[in-house]
Amino acid sequence: MTTREALASDFRSDTVTYPSDDMKAFMMQAELGDDVFGEDPTVLQLQERVAGLTGKESALFVPTGCMGNLIALMTLASPGQVLYSGSHSHIKLYELGSYAQLAGLSLRETDDSQGYLDRAQLASNWSPEIYYIPQPGLVAVENSHNMLGGLIYPPEELEKLRAFTQEKCVPLHMDGARLFNASVAANKPITTWTNLVDSVMISLSKGLGAPAGSVLAGGSDLIKKALRVRKLLGGGMRQTGILAAAGLYALDHNIPLLKRDHTLCTLVYNGVKDSEILTPVKPQTNILMLDFHQPVASQFAEYMERQNLRLMAISHTRVRIVFHQNISDDACDRLVETTRKWRPAH
Ligand SMILES: *Cc1c(COP(=O)(O)O)cnc(C)c1O
Repeated sequence: MTTREALASDFRSDTVTYPSDDMKAFMMQAELGDDVFGEDPTVLQLQERVAGLTGKESALFVPTGCMGNLIALMTLASPGQVLYSGSHSHIKLYELGSYAQLAGLSLRETDDSQGYLDRAQLASNWSPEIYYIPQPGLVAVENSHNMLGGLIYPPEELEKLRAFTQEKCVPLHMDGARLFNASVAANKPITTWTNLVDSVMISLSKGLGAPAGSVLAGGSDLIKKALRVRKLLGGGMRQTGILAAAGLYALDHNIPLLKRDHTLCTLVYNGVKDSEILTPVKPQTNILMLDFHQPVASQFAEYMERQNLRLMAISHTRVRIVFHQNISDDACDRLVETTRKWRPAH
């Protein structure tokens, strides 16, 4: 178990957040029912709430973001078709290739190193309509972009992508695990992005601080199909209003808290940006990437761990630092000081 005190310096991910006492109290009084029978009023309330926020007809509570994304792929595309997604996307890198294993899709990668899909490359890789060539199934984008340091998908880029997918008659899915981070940082409603996609997955269990759960939102036909796929994948839960209540609480109270996460992230960036041994990627939301000039990322992470500062080496040269509501100001100060002093051992 991690104590709350230890959480204050745990920068590995915003998934490590604990539910606050108020959130737990709210969960305890949730009205419950069997959600496989569609009878859990709290789940229904959460789904309606997210449908409203995203400007979609309907929404579905799912256990995890991975399942939410997979359900979208299985609902929007058919086996044998092609998924177009970014080369650094979570769907490609961290979901066990479920797009292939379970959805039966092949993947065509598009460069996303700017935080959004390279549309010229996407267009030039687009499958021609020839009968023996796998045909396009869907396009997926990520916002904010996890592996590229929490970059926000520029709305004008998404508009152009949308025009392209509409011209091709292919659906567009957004992995919006951290969509509210993008929304708060850009000071724009989430509909800025959700109006331009067919489906969107939003995590409640990351910066929003719920212990579990994500929501998939989209048109009512899409969500009707999604309900069947969720059951197929073993994601039909019963008195799950107890978790949905945490999500409702998070949406009511925790969105404004993300601003502090972003402020702390920028504060740490400013504190280390003059370093001679690393270059930090300028953050837009709550994720800070440090790029070391030598392959010392694990050595750095291990040293920091001994100083009770937990963070993650995600490659030989790159460290990821994530800010969330349980992080303390003091831990951020220590992180800056310790990083500035640290030198690799020879
Ligand atoms: C965490 C994450 C997911 C998956 O969410 P889980 O709830 O961990 O399954 C999907 N996409 C992105 C961008 C994420 O950061």
